[in-house]
Amino acid sequence: MSVSSARALLHTEALARRELLDVTAYDVALDLASDAEVFGSVTSITFESRGGATFVDLKPTRVRSIRLNGAPVDVDTLDGGRLPILTVAGTNVLVVDAVMPFRNDGEGLHLHVDPADGRRYVYGMSFMDAAPTVFACFDQPDLKAPYTLHVRAPHDWVVVGNAPATNPEPGTWEIGPTQPLSTYVVTVVAGPYHVIRDEHDGIPLGLSARQSLAVHLDKDADELLTLTRQCFDEYHRRFGIRYPFGDYHQAFVPEFNAGAMENPGCVTFRDQMVFDTRVTRGTRIHRATTVAHEMAHQWFGNIVTPAWWDDLWLNESFAEYMGNRVTADVTRYADAWTHVSWARRQWGLTADQRATTHPVAGNGAVDAIVALQNFDGISYAKGSSILRQLATSLGDDVFFAGVVDHLTRHRFGNATMHDLFASWERAGADDLAPVVDQWLRTAGPDILSVDRETAVLHRTPPSGHPADRTHRLDVVTLRAGAVTSTPLAVQDDTTPCPIEADGTTAVLVDPHEVSWGVYVPDRQTVAALVSELPRLTDDAVRAGAWNNVKSGFSMARVAPDAVVDLLVAAFPVADTEDTARHTVPWVLAEVLPAAAPGSRARVHDAAAGLVADLEPGSEHQLAAFRAAVRTADDVDLLRSWLVDTPEGVEPDSDVRWRLLVQLATLGGTDQAALDAALADDPTASTRVQHVRASTSLPTPEAKQLAWRMFTGELDVANYELEAAGHGLWQGTQRELTDPYVERYFAELPGTSAVRSGWVLALAAEAFFPRTRVDTETLESAHALLGAGVLEPAVHRRVADQADVLARRLAVRAAYPVAAA
Ligand SMILES: [Zn+2]
Repeated sequence: MSVSSARALLHTEALARRELLDVTAYDVALDLASDAEVFGSVTSITFESRGGATFVDLKPTRVRSIRLNGAPVDVDTLDGGRLPILTVAGTNVLVVDAVMPFRNDGEGLHLHVDPADGRRYVYGMSFMDAAPTVFACFDQPDLKAPYTLHVRAPHDWVVVGNAPATNPEPGTWEIGPTQPLSTYVVTVVAGPYHVIRDEHDGIPLGLSARQSLAVHLDKDADELLTLTRQCFDEYHRRFGIRYPFGDYHQAFVPEFNAGAMENPGCVTFRDQMVFDTRVTRGTRIHRATTVAHEMAHQWFGNIVTPAWWDDLWLNESFAEYMGNRVTADVTRYADAWTHVSWARRQWGLTADQRATTHPVAGNGAVDAIVALQNFDGISYAKGSSILRQLATSLGDDVFFAGVVDHLTRHRFGNATMHDLFASWERAGADDLAPVVDQWLRTAGPDILSVDRETAVLHRTPPSGHPADRTHRLDVVTLRAGAVTSTPLAVQDDTTPCPIEADGTTAVLVDPHEVSWGVYVPDRQTVAALVSELPRLTDDAVRAGAWNNVKSGFSMARVAPDAVVDLLVAAFPVADTEDTARHTVPWVLAEVLPAAAPGSRARVHDAAAGLVADLEPGSEHQLAAFRAAVRTADDVDLLRSWLVDTPEGVEPDSDVRWRLLVQLATLGGTDQAALDAALADDPTASTRVQHVRASTSLPTPEAKQLAWRMFTGELDVANYELEAAGHGLWQGTQRELTDPYVERYFAELPGTSAVRSGWVLALAAEAFFPRTRVDTETLESAHALLGAGVLEPAVHRRVADQADVLARRLAVRAAYPVAAA
């Protein structure tokens, strides 16, 4: 049966099932050794019932048998991923013997064959509604139970799960019983993984990755284990509750959709976080905050779990806040908050300004799929910002006392936002209602800007979402290298802002980003930053300044050419590779297509100049080189770099494929050369880059290849699908891509028949015709959205991309480009 025919669980259905049942135990036997396409899954669920009808969630390839309390259940009643059952009052035992599909979309049990050596690897991803493709279950977060797993696997495999695993005989693994777990965090990681074991404070630690990454995992193990130890010590100190899940295994797994998943005892990470090529410091900080984020979830999410998906934001906001904070407080990455400004802030602000914005808390979540759509920058970045404000205003003593009270009261159970706020009030917090009303239950960001003539800060609440929010922040002026901060309490739509600013002063709102809002700089500020940013020594303010500029641009209040002037001038700063890493891709996607002719060459020349000027071998040089490649239009230059990289730039596979992708886009290589490059170095990551390069070529065949992946005619794994979407649309290939604009809107609804879950939405976004910036495309998007034919996940992505398109059109209307 098709996975996508499954019905999403309604909140009302979950409440009814919770009323009826208490699950005592799961016993799951998985046979991973008998078949390459499917696996056996025999699940025995023991539960107490008040007696009556309900259903169990099950999405198998086929069913062998089902017995409830010893009596057979009619298999044919399985419909839409649900099997109706009639329970008796008291203890029930349901045994489901099914055959399940190995998947290649990063959900359920994902099977990956490593192109480097042909070895097979498996991992489980049960979030958010994928558990029933692994084992039969009552798939909702508030029916927790202990799990015992029996896994049959090839003899050379290692099996890891949510509790310490034993290997009583070759090919047989026993895990558990675990602590009580929600279905969405149950996992098993199995394959011939390379495993590193260690120990800290009585907790057995593990790291694992594919064999082809073994040497790189070995190289990174020290840093990863050090971070792990530091984070454990800090969480134990802050929470006062021991980590309760036995081992702490961190598995780096292939083709993972999210950054990582917090499964108790067995966290899974995307294995690009095992660095097999040169990376920059920002990438390392991102990995460190991810390690800390997932560990925070062991307490907040795993020991205490949301009762329903409408409080999932709290999991994420809390883990995001604690992950950033702990990384900054106790690891070598004391500048983690600055990294957050570069990497996360605009993600949240952009989501918060869209038509699809939603309150951080209490956004309905009538069913699990609707809840998943709200799993965005608002749940992470905005929620984290609000918790940070709350921790500052309450003080650490009250903030953590409340958290500890919450974790203690609801240990191994479920809780809601109201429970947490009650804990904070017990710990001594004053009335928290204003925080909830102003910040958590009202969507959209305030817009803040300073009028330097009248010395007033204007606060404009989001249109359509009335709010009256207090902001405590600094207005910072930069003038001739002098940095001056003026603290303000913004409680009104106009607030006197006593700053000294002449026409050459840059005026920045909240560059330390302690509040949440869209800060729009004026024209003089953007012009002044051209001379101020290069001499600024405070990296946090630099990141905040760029966020002011990005926000102003997206509001069509900062001109594209002013951004290009700023980037070209502010590039030459040796101490921040983040400028290049996070700003160049944004400039490429948003600014250059709207900027004056020749802007791309200016950015390229600035980046290429830095490659020559910066210290050879430094990561700043590497960041500049990547920017130079992305903006290069000179095929001969790219070919020469492919033969001989500039001094200091290591020609590793990442660098090589960046060059090949750019060459492909320009038509400077061909399919045969790309195929040869892949054959020369076949790895999981080069295979993805090969798809991206192949679909970037300026040929009809390349575009057809991408399209066959989109429609499902060619079945490819999740990463390759996304790469094909990125390859397809190239601004310089309009004649080739134009036919696919109409086809996108016509054929998108049909993709629900060939994929589901995360990748369904991923493909809708990746293949959106993003290089066609015109009103016809916007009208097509709105027509499709209005037709009522899209699944919620697809609808949301199209709506968001339509929003991106509308903003681009607004920028072009405000700043028309003179003909070249
Ligand atoms: Zn998380």
